[in-house]
Amino acid sequence: MGARRTFVIVGAGFAGARAAATLRTEGFDGRILLLGDEPVRPYDRVTLSKHYLYGKPGLHALYVHDEAFYAANDIDLRLSTPVVSVDVGARQVELASGERTGYDALLLTTGCEPRRWSGPGSGLDGVHYLRTLADADHLRTALVAAAAHSGRLVVIGTGWIGCEIAAAARELDIDVALVGRSAVPLAHQLGAQMASFYRDLHAEHGVELHGGREVAELRGQGSVRAVVLSDGTVLPADVVAFGIGARPRVGLAQSAGLAVDNGIVTDAQFATSAPAVFAAGDVASVWNGAAWSGAQGKRTRLEHWAAALQQGPAAARAMLGDRRPYSQIPFFFSDQYDVWMEFTGEAAGADEFVMRTLPGDRVFIAFWLRGGRLAAGMNVNVKGIPDLVGELIAEGRRIDARALADPDIPLADTVLSC
Ligand SMILES: Cc1cc2nc3c(=O)[nH]c(=O)nc-3n(C[C@H](O)[C@H](O)[C@H](O)COP(=O)(O)OP(=O)(O)OC[C@H]3O[C@@H](n4cnc5c(N)ncnc54)[C@H](O)[C@@H]3O)c2cc1C
Repeated sequence: MGARRTFVIVGAGFAGARAAATLRTEGFDGRILLLGDEPVRPYDRVTLSKHYLYGKPGLHALYVHDEAFYAANDIDLRLSTPVVSVDVGARQVELASGERTGYDALLLTTGCEPRRWSGPGSGLDGVHYLRTLADADHLRTALVAAAAHSGRLVVIGTGWIGCEIAAAARELDIDVALVGRSAVPLAHQLGAQMASFYRDLHAEHGVELHGGREVAELRGQGSVRAVVLSDGTVLPADVVAFGIGARPRVGLAQSAGLAVDNGIVTDAQFATSAPAVFAAGDVASVWNGAAWSGAQGKRTRLEHWAAALQQGPAAARAMLGDRRPYSQIPFFFSDQYDVWMEFTGEAAGADEFVMRTLPGDRVFIAFWLRGGRLAAGMNVNVKGIPDLVGELIAEGRRIDARALADPDIPLADTVLSC
């Protein structure tokens, strides 16, 4: 009988926890070490910019598994345990404590960290970023205090996180100004048509929009009191939240000599450039075999919940020798106010936009086509759409745009026969 193998996972987040669980369900009976630098067991970040911020509990489960799960499954979960280096030659990881642990296979699921603004006043109190549970607790405390004293929030960045923070703060009835480089929120992510939908949504909920501007300076004595924009506008602020993007945490991989290019580069089975080292989730730039965006497979790094959900388990199976290639049409979702939406595919490069309006308030499906073929679909306040949209994108057949706009024609019947 061979020695018991050791699989080490660095990054006890969503992808890492799901990978550890999958190793067990797939029958791996060796040691599993799940190492995380945060002090809390793996949790789902999705709720942090939504219900968690405005304090409505119970709508989303926060933790990936209950507390007893790890011991019950013989998963050695070590919290507050940063890994400081990987020696791919000796097949060892080194912890901050100096302890070294050998591995037979290693999975890196180190996720992302927020991009930080470093201009004048960036070190003032009251300036927030949002990635971790600790960040969310700090921001929530600040928002609750602002709500109690008619305080004002300035959100900088009009991507998903910035928009969701703005919406959450309005749930607390806080005055919110939303500042972004693009003229309208989410323009970069969604293009003009759907960005204007979100602009109107925020405006209707009382958010003051400052598009086409950047931050020049934060002012205050100790604590932030105002945000000065690039055009000289001064916005009073008691709380400032930056949502200006995230970058993959590739430091460990880089210093270990792994190939890194906007994320840790892997093949379609999550294998990195070093033997027995795999990567998955937000940090991984994976070869994705799905047919979409006019290509039959391409390299993708997705900062989406659904990608971590699939990639963690798929990478675990790859560590056990599964050679099936990864293939996933991008999918994500967002909740703001009473609008929940799901987005499938990729709108960039589309040359046609089609709306299918359904009965009800703000109920529709938006489609993007490229060369007559479906590139992306976004369903708003209507369920059961993404799987079908994903199939239509993957099939790559020509679509009848007029049928797509007609709510009486089933989506499956919009495919042209020639
Ligand atoms: C506020 C917020 C809201 C979001 N909302 C949505 C949404 O609505 N829809 C959607 O599709 N996606 C959303 N996402 C994205 C989604 O949460 C991520 O795609 C997902 O968390 C990625 O999981 P991961 O395991 O790859 O990375 P992470 O969840 O970031 O986990 C990585 C873990 O590794 C740890 N780590 C890093 N380096 C080390 C080291 N050297 N040693 C030990 N541990 C280390 C990190 O501290 C972290 O705990 C949201 C993200 C955030 C932050």
